[in-house]
Amino acid sequence: MKAAVIKEPGRIVVEEVAIPVPDAGEVLLKVDACALCGTDQRVLKGEKHVDVPIVGHEIAGTVAAVGTDVKGVELDERYAVQTVIGCNACPMCALERQNLCENGFKAIGYQWNGGFAEYMVMPVAGVRQGCLIPLPAGMSAEAGTLIEPLSCCVNGMRCLPFEGMHAVAVFGGGIIGVLNGLVAKARGAERVVIFDVAQDRLNLLESLGLPFDGLINSRDHDPVEWITNFTGGRGANAVVVAASVKQLVPIGIQMLARDGHLSIFAGMPKSDPVEPLDLNLIHYPELHIHGANSSVQRDYTEARELISSGRVAAEKLVTHTFSLDDFNEAVATQGNPASGSLKVIIKP
Ligand SMILES: [Zn+2]
Ligand SMILES: [Zn+2]
Repeated sequence: MKAAVIKEPGRIVVEEVAIPVPDAGEVLLKVDACALCGTDQRVLKGEKHVDVPIVGHEIAGTVAAVGTDVKGVELDERYAVQTVIGCNACPMCALERQNLCENGFKAIGYQWNGGFAEYMVMPVAGVRQGCLIPLPAGMSAEAGTLIEPLSCCVNGMRCLPFEGMHAVAVFGGGIIGVLNGLVAKARGAERVVIFDVAQDRLNLLESLGLPFDGLINSRDHDPVEWITNFTGGRGANAVVVAASVKQLVPIGIQMLARDGHLSIFAGMPKSDPVEPLDLNLIHYPELHIHGANSSVQRDYTEARELISSGRVAAEKLVTHTFSLDDFNEAVATQGNPASGSLKVIIKP
């Protein structure tokens, strides 16, 4: 089979490798589509380490072979792949919160080969945990790949009570900012505004016709001032930081209304994650601060429902599709802000 193999940081070669054979308890998937994500870019550049030569974790595939001892999975069934696999022995895993596994979770595309290949194996631990998420008959493979990133947004926003919120602000107009904004809308936020520093990006979102109520360039407009005017002085009910810029956290806090919610969705630079902050800005207005780290099964099923019901128009977000042969071109397209790309998909 063909696979995009990491030879060394920054050098990926599409080459022939053996089709993996599923062991007892494992399932072989034919990859129908696998989307590139920002984390993949960091791995491919060598900024983030993984244990395997084939990455890709936003996957939709069809069962091509089933190992012995697998129950309830049949040939030709279509699945999305849940990325995170916990130890399934610790208290957090017992609560089905494998994303917070106390022994550190493992993941498809990080500790097991991922989806930038014609075939991939769902390991026995993943099959047992229920990491094969059935795809509805009418859902395209392209839309199916969006279930994974959307599930991470569903998880990150689980504790935010959007119903009745009059204004939500999102920092970051990339796919993750967009998906967070769409979850807020789907869950009842009245108005959602996206802030980004790249006008090209904001123009792209405009041209895609997404249901946002403002696409604001935060180089040209001070976000605190803009939101104050937009909300008649009350502030936003929620701010999502979906860009790895730590200075956005104190700015987001200043944008919030009383009883407001701040979601720190993006990870911050590990080398320098510290940011000074007036904690009384959280204390007196009774603000709520949320973290976000990947997702678990309940988030996948909710994300699948958001897409299949049309409340999140997944296919609109897919701007580019490449074959596996053109993997490096796909990576360059996704990494180039001027390319007009939002979600880039590989169809092996
Ligand atoms: Zn990802
Ligand atoms: Zn665990």
